[in-house]
Amino acid sequence: MDLHGDYLIIGSGIAALRAAASLGGAGDVLILTKGGRREGNTGYAQGGIAAAMGADDSPARHLADTMAAGDGLCNERAVAVLVEEGPRYVRELIDWGAEFDRAADGSPALAIEGAHSVRRVLHARDATGREIGRVLWTRVSPMSNVRVLEYARAVSVIVEDGRCVGVRFLQEDGGLAVARAPCTLLATGGAGQVYRETTNPPVATGDGVAVAYLAGAAIMDMEFVQFHPTALDVAGQPRFLLSEALRGEGARLVNADGEPFMLRYDPAGDLAPRDRVSRGIAREAQRTGKPVYLTLAHLHPAFVRERFPLISAACRQAGLDLATDRIPIGPAAHYVMGGVITDLDGRTTITGLLAAGEAACTGVHGANRLASNSLLEGLVFGARAGAAMRRWTEQPIDPVSLRGFDDGATHKKRGQPAFFANKGDGLAAAAVQDLMWRNVGLFRDADGLKAGNALAERLDDGESLAALAPQDWQAASLLTVGLLIARAALRREESRGGHFRLDFPERDDRRWRRRTMERRGE
Ligand SMILES: Cc1cc2nc3c(=O)[nH]c(=O)nc-3n(C[C@H](O)[C@H](O)[C@H](O)COP(=O)(O)OP(=O)(O)OC[C@H]3O[C@@H](n4cnc5c(N)ncnc54)[C@H](O)[C@@H]3O)c2cc1C
Repeated sequence: MDLHGDYLIIGSGIAALRAAASLGGAGDVLILTKGGRREGNTGYAQGGIAAAMGADDSPARHLADTMAAGDGLCNERAVAVLVEEGPRYVRELIDWGAEFDRAADGSPALAIEGAHSVRRVLHARDATGREIGRVLWTRVSPMSNVRVLEYARAVSVIVEDGRCVGVRFLQEDGGLAVARAPCTLLATGGAGQVYRETTNPPVATGDGVAVAYLAGAAIMDMEFVQFHPTALDVAGQPRFLLSEALRGEGARLVNADGEPFMLRYDPAGDLAPRDRVSRGIAREAQRTGKPVYLTLAHLHPAFVRERFPLISAACRQAGLDLATDRIPIGPAAHYVMGGVITDLDGRTTITGLLAAGEAACTGVHGANRLASNSLLEGLVFGARAGAAMRRWTEQPIDPVSLRGFDDGATHKKRGQPAFFANKGDGLAAAAVQDLMWRNVGLFRDADGLKAGNALAERLDDGESLAALAPQDWQAASLLTVGLLIARAALRREESRGGHFRLDFPERDDRRWRRRTMERRGE
């Protein structure tokens, strides 16, 4: 099957849909999405979306908080766009029907989360992403120029004469097909599934980063992975996220003796940036040899159940009452700050290929993402990518040129696609996930990272994921992204943001106040 469109969008989360919303009446828009149309990280986002909309807030303040969380590596121009344009796009969502919780005076109720200096997080109870997805689908579904193909998994970017002309994708029946368009947006979301313990749903396997990398696009900041400190830790249950908004509303971290402990590890206590809380929890569990808990028992039970219905239900399924029980928690991979390098309009280093949302790396998060900034990133940069695509047909846009990097070259190697060349038995995704969790996780050192880098032996000849059997494809994508993370983490001999090296525990601005990129063949 060969499909054609004027605009090709891969994914159906916040970034993809906000881009599609910019393309009303513009030409044929084809959306390919890997699972059901609502599957993806957006639907799981709980705590909310940050925007400087409170009376005591300003874009400058939001910028300062974002830059501080990013630990010296944010791209300030991208952050300025995020915080200055954010309120406008959030207001637009409200105009389109988003039902965020409201304060008594009717204005949006604003929550506070870790490392925010003021209340600025809009939320729809604890299911904010689902509400935003609902509104965006309401907007995009009636657009007569938009076609959506579900269970269509992009497996490679097609580059002809240095220009992206579409993707190959696997259909639901396992057959391979091609979708062509003059411009393609990768909005494939996160890569949490690279790790054994993750808050991300099964579709979050980093496919956009994998296919862009294999096509020759430049990738950046992959060593920076955010581990969320509070995922439900009950044997046999999924690592359901217990949003930071719980701590924002007063929930406390305690050890098995019921003692608060975070001040032992960090002066900012329970609301320190996520990487520091995650490491504090891991160290306390190691120190005591017992589990660590989140407790809301000192808050009013009716408030807890009303404010957090989704989380209450997930705890109930695990046999726990969020309002009264101590809830066992532990860190889990949550967000990869790195991704496909883009400029402020979503352009990548390949002509005709754009990226937005979690798959992209604009540099807004630097070494660590400020809570609730990622929905905002998907919204703002999805809209900007959509607008750029719309302009694209009127005036062709060159690929982004990054200082110090040449642009456009794809570094293709010829030869047979051979991911599992001579390896006989293929590759289990679980093996990659386990290795990444043990060696490229919260605490890293050279020995462990070298084991992670051994993944390269299995990846040497990979030309395209498209030639693999469907059951192998997922593992190959995880392998590609895992290797990009492990390689970048081994390279960076310091600790910063989400990247912590036991053998280099200090931040080293002299050597490492810079971002690292990787392009295939370089
Ligand atoms: C449990 C959880 C809670 C979170 N809470 C918050 C929060 O409160 N606030 C906040 O700001 N952020 C939060 N985040 C992060 C935020 O949800 C994501 O960063 C954001 O939704 C990403 O949007 P996206 O459009 O880039 O990707 P997604 O929403 O993940 O969408 C990606 C889409 O691409 C599709 N796809 C993937 N691979 C392929 C492929 N090969 N071919 C075709 N389609 C493909 C997927 O099926 C999906 O439709 C949370 C994340 C999780 C997991």
